[in-house]
Amino acid sequence: GNGSPAEPTNTFIVNSPNVVYTEAEIRSKYTYRTTSVETDDRGNFVATPKETPYEFKVERKVPKVGMMLVGWGGNNGTTVTAGIIANRHKLAWETKEGPREANYYGSVIMGSTLKLGTDAKTAREINIPFHNILPMVHPNDLVIGGWDISGMNLAKAMDRAQVLEPTLKAQVKKEMSEMVPLRSIYYPDFIAANQEDRADNVLEGTKASMAHVEQLRSDIREFKSSNGLDKVIVMWTANTERYADIIAGVNDTADNLLKAIEQGHEEVSPSTVFAVASILEQTPFINGSPQNTFVPGAIELAERHNAFIGGDDFKSGQTKMKSALVDFLINAGIKLTSIASYNHLGNNDGKNLSSQKQFRSKEISKSNVVDDMVEANSVLYKKGEHPDHCVVIKYMPAVADNKRALDEYYAEIFMGGHQTISMFNICEDSLLASPLIIDLVVIAEMMTRIQWKASGSEDYKSFHSVLSVLSYMLKAPLTPPGTPVVNALAKQRAALTNIFRACVGLEPESDMTLEHKLF
Ligand code: NAD
Repeated sequence: GNGSPAEPTNTFIVNSPNVVYTEAEIRSKYTYRTTSVETDDRGNFVATPKETPYEFKVERKVPKVGMMLVGWGGNNGTTVTAGIIANRHKLAWETKEGPREANYYGSVIMGSTLKLGTDAKTAREINIPFHNILPMVHPNDLVIGGWDISGMNLAKAMDRAQVLEPTLKAQVKKEMSEMVPLRSIYYPDFIAANQEDRADNVLEGTKASMAHVEQLRSDIREFKSSNGLDKVIVMWTANTERYADIIAGVNDTADNLLKAIEQGHEEVSPSTVFAVASILEQTPFINGSPQNTFVPGAIELAERHNAFIGGDDFKSGQTKMKSALVDFLINAGIKLTSIASYNHLGNNDGKNLSSQKQFRSKEISKSNVVDDMVEANSVLYKKGEHPDHCVVIKYMPAVADNKRALDEYYAEIFMGGHQTISMFNICEDSLLASPLIIDLVVIAEMMTRIQWKASGSEDYKSFHSVLSVLSYMLKAPLTPPGTPVVNALAKQRAALTNIFRACVGLEPESDMTLEHKLF
């Protein structure tokens, strides 16, 4: 780096013949080492080490990026906006526990570190902020905008959310009162009927239409040009919708989906219309809610346009604990036999989820999160065997955004004994979700500047349209069609870390630390 010696910048360069820095790019040659397994005649596995040489290319110039939130006036939308403004201005505010300063706690990118390597002289670990592994955009520099069916300005909407301290709100109020969401599309059948009274900022028409797609596309273009942006990322943090039925001829292929929108078919949801508009604008679109926005036709459309999509459903509180704890239990050889998960919450999300069809979307996304871990352990579980798993959500207005999650994990241990872990997790919901929104935007943007090719081939290309590398932040990770879903939290983080390391020609973090074991 070029900082003064007194203040280390924590940036680094890679010193390797496989890594080349030009003004515009970092180019690396990377050998991907895996193990290929075959089964012989007698049913034994034969494991063969396999090497695949890849080349990566990372664009170094950090672009000017806009983040457009669908549901901007909601709890998450207002909280992440206020949080970024507070960080940008380095605000401090009084609380009953003393002064607090703006931070990015809860963001993997901004709040966590990764091991770069070991000190050549002392053999001590050198850790760097995650943000420094690649030339990523800084969240303070994001230009924020978006849509909401409620026309309240962001200052008033922040009050409605009941999340942040009054002493902080007072300092961002002026700036946020000038932020007003764009009019959005509202198809009442998709969200709870109890949301109707806030829908005062809507475009004409209550069914999907090409006019809606075109309006949203022009909103994205206009936001981009009026703010002088290089790129925009669109994120759905609006209400949870009901599932859309998957119907042959309607949303099963890209062409059928476009036709269905043209014909105003009632099974096309607002979130899918936003996805289609974003895809057609080559703008990454991420779904932070549980519904099936990405019907097969939407995924095919994204692939066709080489546009990035990611989802579904922010993984903030209960499920994040679950994907860490279950990973631990099963990998410890303990046989988890049931999980009972109760939630009650009192924010508008809870109000919307008090309606059965919307709750069902959430129930589905919360239910499959341990499947991969169970399936991977054939010692504890027979084929097809699963722990019992039940999810309950109740609306309790008084607790507002301070969601309660009560979980009981029941497991079988040595010699028929039992272990019961009971957990009470008070998740200040929007304060957990906001840093995830930031991570998703920063990582998705970074992925637009990474290209790869198989060594020896001519052309570089992008990663697959479906950004499964975002899985750590998402409850029900979307993966490229036909590829496995990974829910285990540690694996998700390792994938993210090691892919970014590979882009600058560094080996995966192996945690072997042989340097401390072999003298
Ligand atoms: P919220 O109800 O406070 O905000 C949602 C906003 O979306 C509202 O302002 C609403 O007016 C708006 N909206 C609804 N339909 C719209 C449309 N078609 N176009 C534009 N705006 C629309 O909810 P929240 O707490 O901010 O959560 C947002 C979403 O994120 C929910 O679906 C929730 O399930 C999901 N989520 C949240 C968390 C978390 O920890 N907060 C975790 C996982 C998922």
